[in-house]
Amino acid sequence: MPLPPEPSIHACECLICQAASDPAVVRRHYHINLLLSRLTEPQRRWYVGFLSQEPDSPGERQLVLITGLARNTIQRGRRELLAGFADMSATQQRRAGAGRPLAEKKTRSSKR
Ligand SMILES: [Zn+2]
Repeated sequence: MPLPPEPSIHACECLICQAASDPAVVRRHYHINLLLSRLTEPQRRWYVGFLSQEPDSPGERQLVLITGLARNTIQRGRRELLAGFADMSATQQRRAGAGRPLAEKKTRSSKR
């Protein structure tokens, strides 16, 4: 069975990464994008929305360059996070098909 394709990792477009002038920042931005590549779409905007309100946040304009997410997507993620996901049920927060597969029904009992 072929493996699913590796998720693509966004290449940071900030000036520091473009110039490779600060290895610590380059590494941090890479790790942010690596993490984002493994998240679902809502999880991505919530994580970046969370980052945008951190005290040492790079700021929305920078986060757009770092993550490739649109500014209004980041704002939406932050709004949803700050609202405590009030308008969403736990099932709405999950991407269809995400998570553990449903357990197969046990057929052993039918052999009795
Ligand atoms: Zn960067």
